[in-house]
Parts: sequence; C-alpha cells; structure tokens
Amino acid sequence: MGTKILIPTALRQYAGGQEIVEVNATDVSDALQQLTSTYPDLKKNLLSDEGSLRSFINIYKGEDNIRDLSNLQTQISDGDELLIVPSIAGGSMASDIMDEITLSNDEIHRYSRHLLIPEFGIEGQKKLKQSSVLMIGAGGLGSPLAMYLAAAGVGKIGIVEYDTIDTSNLQRQLLYRTEDVGKAKADVAKSSIHGINPFVDVELYNTPLTSENALDIFRGYDVVVDGTDNFPTRYLVNDACVMLGIPNVYGSIFRFEGQVSVFNLDQDCACYRCLYPEPPPPGLVPSCAEGGVLGVLPGIIGSLQAIETIKLLTGIGESLKNRLVIFDALKMKFKELKLKKNRDCVVCSDHPTITELIDYEQFCGMPSHDRMEPAESDAQSPDEITVFELKKRLDNGEHPFILDVRLNEEYEICKLDGATLIPIHDLPLRYQELDPNREIIALCKVGARSAKAADFLKEKGFKDVKNLVGGINAWSEFIDPEVPYY
Ligand SMILES: [Zn+2]
Repeated sequence: MGTKILIPTALRQYAGGQEIVEVNATDVSDALQQLTSTYPDLKKNLLSDEGSLRSFINIYKGEDNIRDLSNLQTQISDGDELLIVPSIAGGSMASDIMDEITLSNDEIHRYSRHLLIPEFGIEGQKKLKQSSVLMIGAGGLGSPLAMYLAAAGVGKIGIVEYDTIDTSNLQRQLLYRTEDVGKAKADVAKSSIHGINPFVDVELYNTPLTSENALDIFRGYDVVVDGTDNFPTRYLVNDACVMLGIPNVYGSIFRFEGQVSVFNLDQDCACYRCLYPEPPPPGLVPSCAEGGVLGVLPGIIGSLQAIETIKLLTGIGESLKNRLVIFDALKMKFKELKLKKNRDCVVCSDHPTITELIDYEQFCGMPSHDRMEPAESDAQSPDEITVFELKKRLDNGEHPFILDVRLNEEYEICKLDGATLIPIHDLPLRYQELDPNREIIALCKVGARSAKAADFLKEKGFKDVKNLVGGINAWSEFIDPEVPYY
C-alpha cells in the first residue's frame, strides 16, 4: 500500500482523467515528482519553475495543509492521503487552467443567455464547467437546486440521498414524477438532471451521510449545499465543511418560512454553529414530515441557494456571507439579519474544541432520518410493539390503552379506533390524566415522537409504556390501507 494522491476535478484533465493516483514516496516532494513524471502536464499547474508549490495550490496531508507542516519536505508514509486543492471559487483560478477549458459549439448555444451577461460571460461559464457541487439531499430544496445547477452548466454535481420517492414528496419535489414513486431518489435525480443537461457529470452517494463517510464524500468538492431536513445531518454538514474548508450554502424551510445563508466561506465567515451553537431540544422544532411545508417554499429557498452557489463558483456579486435572509411567504417579506463569526465557536474559531466529527444523533438527541421501518415479526425491545403484534392483540379482543401523541391536524387526517389524543407538547401538562399502572401503547406518525413520549412517561413513573414501531404510517402500510398514509 502506498500513498494516495487525490486529484481535484479541475486538474484531472492533466492526469489522464484519474481521480486517485497512487505513489510510493517518503515525502511530498518525492510524491509530486512521481506524479508529475507520470503526468508531465500537471507539473506547471502544481510547481513553479523553481520547483516550489504554486501559490494557488494547496496540498493537504489528511486534514493538514502541508504549508503548516514541513511544506514539500513533509514526511509521508504508507496509507497517507494527499489532497490537491487548487483555489477556484472567487475567480482566482489559475489562468493557465482556465485557458485549457473550452466550450463546444453545443455548449455555447446552450449557455448563450449566460454568455451575454457582461459579468458572467465565457469566463463565468468555464468556471461553472470546471466546478463541482455536492448536494446534501435531493428533496424539496434539492429539486430546484439540482435542476438549476444542472441547467446552468455546473460541471459536476454530487448527490447524497438514499431515500426512495414517496407520493407525499410530489407536492414539492419537482425532480420526480408520479410514475417514479417507489424508485430511488438518487437514480431518478440523475436521469432528470441528464434530461435537462447531458453535459453534467453526476456522482451519486446512495447512502446515509454519517460521521464515518462525510469527509471522504465531501473532499474535493468546491461547494457543499445543505438541503437536509434534520438537525443531526445539518451539524454534521457544517462541521465537515469547516474541517475541510469548503463553503456551505445553507437553506432551511418550515411551513411558510425559509432561511438562506452562506457559511464558512473564509476565515471571517460565520458557520452554522456560530449562529446556533447547539440544537433545540428534541421535539421542540418538528421536521417538515411532522410540521408540514407549503410546496412552493422549497422552490424559492432552493433557488436562492442555487444563485448563491453559482455566485460562489464564478466569483461574481456579493455572497450571503455573514448575512441570514429570512423569507416569510405569508407576508411576502424578506428580512436580512447580520451574522458574526463567533471567535469562540467550538468548531470554526482559532481554538476549536471539536476537531473531528462526533456522534451527531447523540449530540442532537434525535435520529437523522424519520423513517422507522417496522420489524417484520418481533419488536426490537420490550419497550416496543410492532403493528403486527398490536393487530393480533386487538383481534384477540384485548383493549390496550392507545395514546396518540401527534398534532390535532394529524389526528384529523387519520386515527386508530379508540386512541386517545394528547399531542406530545401537551404531555408535560396532561400526563396526570393517564393511569400510571395501566399498559400504554404510544403512537405517532412514524414512531419517533412516540418513542420520546414513552421515555417521558417512564421517567414520570409509568410502569408499562410501549412505543408503536413505525407509527400510524406503518399501520396504514402493513395492516389497514383504509387508514390514509401521509
Ligand atoms: Zn463557527
């Protein structure tokens, strides 16, 4: 096993299209020597005539810039990874690289409305072509993002998404059509993107984003766009971007309101944690799956993220660095708040206390997804019950106390016969209405909120509380399709 050199998209054309080149070297200088003797065209992009590292190139050994170590003399050993990071965003891209990028006549025709804008022009279009954007999530925000970034001519779009398309997505996720229900979002997103623009290179990561895989997935991308719908992933995305020095275009939506900003653009730029050092307590802020969202809203917020991304990649305009835009669709008002980098931020300050990715589900006290699959036969623990077991017990004439902890609006959509509604937010005030000695089966939409409710009741001394795994949606899916799935 030798040392892997990771070649960024912009330089791959000089390295035979290779993403990774493996060498056996003792220091960085030796590694570059071997790399450039195999691919001589790379040499002028990496090293000056005197043999020093060119100023617009950074090389990272693991997470450290070699300029902070012993520069080209930095020792390397088997298993080390070297990452070449050319400066691109902000228009400081090396002109000799830019000269090499060309637009075909087809591309010139396709992008002609860009080329006519003086601030944008051929130069801007070439920058887009050699740039790469990683989208976290291909849902409500990801749909307009993917479509506009693809149409605009971003060279490479990476998509982290492992969900499948559900009918309830179609109200806002315009990448998908009715006939796509049940298919993997990532696959359909890729074919939608290619339908819009076949010149885009699409890289799919059909896997949940975790602390274990995030840095490997993010590394090498010019911009990361956060289109997640949950706090654990949002903090994970932020921290990984800070650790790798990648700008993070943030967007979030809830019901009629959305937020957009640009985090971690440079040393003076706030990150998400500067704004929100810690997540809200579990259950306080419901997700879109729990709280709902107006279908057009992610179209607007995702489009704003797409504009910010294109500005960063081409170096035009003023970014949303240190500014948070809040959009209220009901009042049709945009508000702008100033953000400031927190000089004591736990992750992006000069003295961070978080220097590697942590367990974000534990940090946020919630899972990073709202899909809870019911076990086929038995529940996982004595504190859980599956829809199959509940059905069997009801069929046997048993009458367990069923506690529904969803919102009133959800209860109006569908309910189980005989269930008692106490929304989870009211539970701390109303739990005394319940009999602590009776068996209680708690349910919600997918089983996450009811698990919290069950924990709460057990803390209050309730003897036998079980969580219905998969919630009422599992009941609809596996037991009674007459109950609407939402
Ligand atoms: Zn910060």
